[in-house]
Amino acid sequence: MLGLMQSHQLLISSLIEFAERHHGEGEVVSRRVEGDIHRCTYKDVGQRARQVANALDDLKLGFSERVATLAWNGYRHLELYFGVSGSGRVLHTLNPRLHPDQIAWIANHAEDTVLCFDMTFLPIVKAIHSRCTTIKHFVALVDADKLPADTGIPGLLSYEAWIGKQSSNYQWPSFDENSASSMCYTSGTTGNPKAALYSHRSTMLHALSGALPDALSMSARDAVLPVVPMFHVNAWGLPYSAAMTGAKLVFPGPAMDGKSIFELIESERVTFAAGVPTVWQMMLAHMQAGDLRFSTLKRTVIGGSACPPAMITAFNDVYGVEVLHAWGMTEMSPLGTVCTLKNKHLPMTPEEKMKVRLKQGRGIFGVDMKIVDDEGHELPWDGKAYGDLLVKGPWIISEYFKGEGGSPLVDGWFPTGDVATIDADGYMQITDRSKDVIKSGGEWISSIDVENIAMAHPAVAMAACIGMKHPKWDERPIIAVVTKPGCEVSRDELLKFYEGKTAKFQIPDDVVFVDAIPLGGTGKMQKSKLRELLKDYKLPDA
Ligand code: AMP
Repeated sequence: MLGLMQSHQLLISSLIEFAERHHGEGEVVSRRVEGDIHRCTYKDVGQRARQVANALDDLKLGFSERVATLAWNGYRHLELYFGVSGSGRVLHTLNPRLHPDQIAWIANHAEDTVLCFDMTFLPIVKAIHSRCTTIKHFVALVDADKLPADTGIPGLLSYEAWIGKQSSNYQWPSFDENSASSMCYTSGTTGNPKAALYSHRSTMLHALSGALPDALSMSARDAVLPVVPMFHVNAWGLPYSAAMTGAKLVFPGPAMDGKSIFELIESERVTFAAGVPTVWQMMLAHMQAGDLRFSTLKRTVIGGSACPPAMITAFNDVYGVEVLHAWGMTEMSPLGTVCTLKNKHLPMTPEEKMKVRLKQGRGIFGVDMKIVDDEGHELPWDGKAYGDLLVKGPWIISEYFKGEGGSPLVDGWFPTGDVATIDADGYMQITDRSKDVIKSGGEWISSIDVENIAMAHPAVAMAACIGMKHPKWDERPIIAVVTKPGCEVSRDELLKFYEGKTAKFQIPDDVVFVDAIPLGGTGKMQKSKLRELLKDYKLPDA
């Protein structure tokens, strides 16, 4: 017997329809590439998203055709999020931090037919447009009078002129909720990048679960600042869950430095901000230098790489902001776990609570996890056993776009490439990426643990731990360190700092001072590049 409930497709267009109707006056504030602050409402976003849909119809773009963006976080990008996917096309957010050759390769692989870009990225588009063989229409996200005359890009349109001549009269179509809605290529640390292709259904379920109180806890009373780029896994789904809840959206545009982010949080009374640790590192340094305090920020979700304990302490103890440590992947839309405490943790001492907060957190509803040993046998949830982490759920990929690399699944589970423990309460903790774990004398050393200790030293701005070949121990850890401006710490001082904080064998053998740690397009440390930089390095006793 079937249930007797109405059957409606879960479609992204319903989010903007809802926001327009129920939170029409809800604000969307953006720092623009032009430098000014732009203010509009969900009602405006809805109207202009419908103009985008009409403009795409005008170009005769078919169902599922790819519309690419090279854009910062801002209202125009948000309009494209809804206008492109809502009308049945696929939004392809290109990562402008990649090398132009790679961007061109990705655009061709995705078979993008339209590219909408912020003027910041004009030099990239100029360099690659002739090589993007499938793109027929180039749209610059500017007013008509700001469009430069001789860019060499054929038929370049101004976004404002393009959508300005369209009516906002448009009926969002209904179609199968399993249709593709957007796509995002993975950082591609090995081989060519591969794309996760999200569906309307997966995006909607992800936004619903992500908004729950024990996940990101989004509400109409929030002012949300996604510092995490809209070109990186849909800004962790925040544009969708904000529309779903009517939360005010605040977009930083291209100004990602500590000062600009802090000022935006203050001026727009932001209550909730989301970003990777490197961004917060810059903002905390700015606040520390100026002895500044937040007046409205209540919580921040930090993910993308492990959040160092020193950062949790700074946010929590110094600035009174709750840190939600979160973990996920491009292949997971991206939310997998969020670290929120349970009742049993509340009476704990600050040190015990910190141990919990450092974990990547509990699986949110919809994400199932398990850890397995080298033979694929499931390991216990005891907080000690660690193994390869596998996941499954309705917003986790089943295969990559165009079937690239064959099925990534193992018995229906997606192997994340992360190594983790899971405790009896279901809190997962990443110890490493499988390829970053260091094996010394048969014992595993977590590079994250080694980095976290260095990061707690007041003179250290950033630290990356890698394993170096060792004749006796197989591998030994060394730590590459960038010091804070005007601060100094010697090799011996830093190694001494480890004493009593970790087992002796986990103390790195050496410290290498570097000007910068190589970062990838999404702000993650690129250990392969660091290894390349240090290829002539020899351990002191090797
Ligand atoms: P991406 O697909 O570029 O978002 O990268 C996903 C990978 O980032 C994961 O598989 C993890 O290795 C890493 N990652 C994401 N969040 C965290 C976190 N909170 N702690 C440690 N590693 C993380």
